[in-house]
Amino acid sequence: MDQAESVRTPSSWAVVGLDNGGTCNNATVLDATGQFLVDHLVENPSRVLDGPESAVEALADAFTGILELTRTPRSLIRAVGLDTPGPASANGVISSKGATNFNHVSWHGFDIRGALEARLGLPVVYNNDGNAAALYAHHQHFGAAAAANSSVSAIVGTGLGGGVVEAGAVVRGAAGMAGELGHVQIPLHGVLEDDQPVPRCNCGFEGDVESVASLTGIKNNLLPYWLTRFPEHPLASEPISAAAKALRGYAEKDDAMALAVFGQQAKAIGKLFTIAANFTDPAAYFLGGGVVEAAPHFRQWFLNTVRESTSLRDEQKAVATFALVPDRDMAGSRGAAVAALNAVIAG
Ligand SMILES: [Zn+2]
Repeated sequence: MDQAESVRTPSSWAVVGLDNGGTCNNATVLDATGQFLVDHLVENPSRVLDGPESAVEALADAFTGILELTRTPRSLIRAVGLDTPGPASANGVISSKGATNFNHVSWHGFDIRGALEARLGLPVVYNNDGNAAALYAHHQHFGAAAAANSSVSAIVGTGLGGGVVEAGAVVRGAAGMAGELGHVQIPLHGVLEDDQPVPRCNCGFEGDVESVASLTGIKNNLLPYWLTRFPEHPLASEPISAAAKALRGYAEKDDAMALAVFGQQAKAIGKLFTIAANFTDPAAYFLGGGVVEAAPHFRQWFLNTVRESTSLRDEQKAVATFALVPDRDMAGSRGAAVAALNAVIAG
């Protein structure tokens, strides 16, 4: 191919978004006009289990690979957005206690943002994966009006992630720990049954959102209780981890026990959103995670239950939107790219 053909954005510039996960990196390119140059999942092995050095090389491979795929010259790239699972500081220093994906001791306190910046010779903008997905949901929903709007996103997965976006930017907090929505404690009245034990979270809290609205919450708290109410349920004979993962399939078929569990999750998220309504009064409430991939009738029921469980004032009801986070698998890399684009524009 000749040079003219190889240049997709000849008069402009672009950023790269890299989403680092436990097994794979996912990459995208976002040009200065706000257009994503990749419309599908582009992955390579993340090699995080091999330690930081291998993982940074794998991220550099993802960077080179996505430029080749989109035929974007490296000279057009002004910045790179990076997101990883937490806990990490606002600047991408992995927790000194390690993290689920970064449990090898060489990861403890490792500055993954700084290491990638040094490796690529380009500015790297960091977000945790929940914040990146929240930023993507916000920008996808509001488009050109993103900077004039606010939102809160709850992403249900192994844990409960998400983020708070104010005036188009992620709220990071003094220590980088803002938007840890999973560990917000919620009133449990109306969520739990009268004889149901108070759920516990791995963080040490009782009755926070993650202790109910996460796969871990199902496994540790909700399912063990609900199986005592449905002792004949087919999942009663399964190991609890397998049963927890299988539960969504039952809910999609309107199984009574599964709907009871997911109903409690939706109510817990509604309690969280009620706190958000009184805290930052966002324009939009986004819901993401595995539920987005579920059968349409189930995910609509889940979103409706969240909305019905969120207590808004009439003035808020008139302006608030409830929506699902789009493009679940690409939300991290795309949000990371949006953050990089915003950083370049902000100078
Ligand atoms: Zn917690």
